[in-house]
Amino acid sequence: MMNADHRESRRQFVGDMTRAVGVLAVGAVAGGVAGRSAIGQEMRWQIDPDRCVGCSRCATECVLDESAVKCVQCFDMCGYCDICTGYLDPNYTAVDTAAENQLCPTAAIERRFVEEKAGQKFYEYTIDPEACIGCGKCVKGCALMNGSLYLQVMQDKCVNCNECAISRACPTEAFLQVPAERPYLLKRQAQELLTNRPTPTNQSKALLHQVTLR
Ligand code: SF4
Ligand code: SF4
Ligand code: SF4
Repeated sequence: MMNADHRESRRQFVGDMTRAVGVLAVGAVAGGVAGRSAIGQEMRWQIDPDRCVGCSRCATECVLDESAVKCVQCFDMCGYCDICTGYLDPNYTAVDTAAENQLCPTAAIERRFVEEKAGQKFYEYTIDPEACIGCGKCVKGCALMNGSLYLQVMQDKCVNCNECAISRACPTEAFLQVPAERPYLLKRQAQELLTNRPTPTNQSKALLHQVTLR
């Protein structure tokens, strides 16, 4: 696991503070029948990333042909590992981008060299949301290290079913409803990193407006 100083170094290199704090490829909120809370507040389905175990049902149980659930990367938590357990198949034969060495079945994770320091190489891993099917394989793999990859319901794709089919199938009851105006959830660790940032940027403030804080 990478310590905070090293993460900060990578983050400075990456530079994009919106991406650095994690989520979100947020599009317009899709149509569909919005759920309402007891006090009439419009609600949306979302995954508590701290409860998800990447069981793969998000890929298969959604009522849509292409699941509304996608993986996101929290760059603040990522170790930028060379041997990334979220990227590499456990039976990899080489640390490269060959399809047979990738864990992701759709090659939705882009691996990009960042820098080499003290003989150690660092890579950035970015999810292509169009290619991601929400299978959670990388989430399970990354959980062995820093746990920076996690699943979220993309609100520009979800039709907000009255009863989410995935929520019924989820073995860890990770699905919950959150206010529609803040329809995403950060991992608790990511939330702490973001809210404790001494000098919040406009981008990090904008991101905080999209998430329900816990
Ligand atoms: S069904 Fe639940 S545990 Fe399985 S991948 Fe989806 S949110 Fe995670
Ligand atoms: S959730 Fe599945 S499809 Fe999406 S990036 Fe991870 S391994 Fe690939
Ligand atoms: S609410 Fe419906 S569309 Fe949205 S993730 Fe659940 S099953 Fe898929």
